[in-house]
Amino acid sequence: MRLIFLGPPGVGKGTQAKLVCDCFDIIHLSTGEILRTEIAVQSNIGNKAKLFIDNGKLVPDNVLLDIINNRLRNNDAQKGYLLDGFPRTIPQAEGLEKIMKNLSHSLKAIVSLSVDEDELVQRLINRSLESGRSDDAPDIIRQRQKVYWKQTAPLLDFYRSKNLLKEVDGSGDIPEITERILGVLK
Ligand code: AMP
Repeated sequence: MRLIFLGPPGVGKGTQAKLVCDCFDIIHLSTGEILRTEIAVQSNIGNKAKLFIDNGKLVPDNVLLDIINNRLRNNDAQKGYLLDGFPRTIPQAEGLEKIMKNLSHSLKAIVSLSVDEDELVQRLINRSLESGRSDDAPDIIRQRQKVYWKQTAPLLDFYRSKNLLKEVDGSGDIPEITERILGVLK
């Protein structure tokens, strides 16, 4: 099983991704988490990515495509994976298609989670109190939302046209949302 989770910051992708991965015994690949680890160990990638992340901007496509190209070749990725936070631009989605084709991997579905604007903002404010993430400050949160609508939302049409898009209501409590996601993956 190979899946992509799409949705604006704060929609609950990370939480749901972990639960769905446990359910199907596949690995959870969050590019945000991978980049935060690279920053923590001060690698070349981390040093390059930090400025973009701290300003709520996207890290350049070629950096992400290199990370994913390496990661999807690992042994642990052969049983399946869920991509959380990747792709985020059309060039990333096109690059991913090439990478997966080379590996003879096919996508089962793209799950798009959405919640209304008020709930989204409230969730991000709550998360900012405990996450310790440098990009969870209010002005950076707003910038990340803008980037999502401008650069990532076009992926909805991209995957809709390939008949792979499953749209799921991301409001309500956690188990209820997980049930909805599992329902569209049957
Ligand atoms: P996330 O944890 O998914 O919200 O990602 C946090 C930050 O990491 C984003 O705001 C971007 O700066 C960077 N990032 C994560 N994934 C990507 C991606 N696929 N393309 C570009 N930048 C990314």
